[in-house]
Amino acid sequence: MTTSTVRVRTRDGGYPVLVGVGLTSQLARVLEEHAPARRYAVISDDNVASLHGHPVMERLRDAGLDASLFTFPAGEASKTRESWTILTDEMLEAGFGRDTCVVAVGGGVTTDLAGFVAATYLRGVPVVQVPTSYLAMIDASVGGKTGVDVSAGKNLVGAFHPPKAVVADTELLRTLPRGERAQGLVEAFKHGAILDAEYFGQLEGFTGDLLEADAEAAADAVQRSVELKAAVVSEDEFEGGYRQILNFGHTLGHALEAASDYALGHGSAVALGMVLEAEVGERMGVTEPGTRERLASVLDALVEPVRGLDVERAVPYLRADKKVRAGRSRVVLLRRIGEVDPGDGWSHEVSESALVDALTAGARAS
Ligand code: NAD
Repeated sequence: MTTSTVRVRTRDGGYPVLVGVGLTSQLARVLEEHAPARRYAVISDDNVASLHGHPVMERLRDAGLDASLFTFPAGEASKTRESWTILTDEMLEAGFGRDTCVVAVGGGVTTDLAGFVAATYLRGVPVVQVPTSYLAMIDASVGGKTGVDVSAGKNLVGAFHPPKAVVADTELLRTLPRGERAQGLVEAFKHGAILDAEYFGQLEGFTGDLLEADAEAAADAVQRSVELKAAVVSEDEFEGGYRQILNFGHTLGHALEAASDYALGHGSAVALGMVLEAEVGERMGVTEPGTRERLASVLDALVEPVRGLDVERAVPYLRADKKVRAGRSRVVLLRRIGEVDPGDGWSHEVSESALVDALTAGARAS
């Protein structure tokens, strides 16, 4: 088994992201090395717990570690302050002290929620992330952002709390439903689109293997995506400027997702967001002609093309977008596949009408 290690730099030193096939068999050793603790609180959603949480627990106990499993109902609806309350109360009741390490085993909902539990429990205890979905491996578990959703919006309460280590075992992707695999892989294409044309081309060639969760192909893709995301977040830990390139496709994507009342998958929304933001860039003369077309052909093959796009409903969400400054949206625009146009501070001011035009063009095509 080959394991690759990508180092993420942070203000406090940094942490390794270990990527490999079958890596969870070494989790106890990784914990002892990177996050020695008297007790381990393993947090998983109930779905992942039955598939991977219990085997992980067995391994940790076999290695002589004091580990307990805490679960919550699977799904985004659980990424709330209520779940945070239940989990932290359960840990307090079980007597977990400051010498605890949280181990998050699951998708992005789990890594965000358990990370936020760790960030706040007794004013902060270490966390080790064990992502089990593509999205969590290549995106959510890397970068230190943790948090919960609130009624005013997604991810609005949280903390930066970098993990001590991330253990990405691509073998675990075999049980991930195919639709979830496709949704997560959209972010891998985004990494290629903003930073690495060669990687984008490789992903185009290996989409079938990645959708089948071929563990070796997945390890290569996860490693490259993590290297790219790590380079960005190491440069800009607290989202001051450069990190916003990761928002490519997300200005329109978030508006589309919110307008659908989150019926549209995040990956599907970001996929269409990338295509339409490429359209905006091409119309503005910033993005190389043909970029939109290439993105559309690969992303349409990956996730179901969005049908029945409701432009009217999306507009208010564009206005509410966090990136709106003085009535204008800021959008990350590509120069070409593999390269973001620097604009002024890694994004461009784009008028609402230009964004609505792109959405309208997208609606006509859907
Ligand atoms: P998720 O955690 O809800 O997982 C999706 C579904 O797949 C769930 O039902 C889960 O139980 C199941 N699942 C996960 N791994 C599995 C496996 N190996 N086998 C079988 N089933 C498995 O959602 P997600 O798509 O992984 O992540 C989405 C979340 O990530 C969102 O809340 C989003 O806000 C967050 N996110 C955070 C960051 C960040 O920087 N912190 C970045 C991107 C996304």
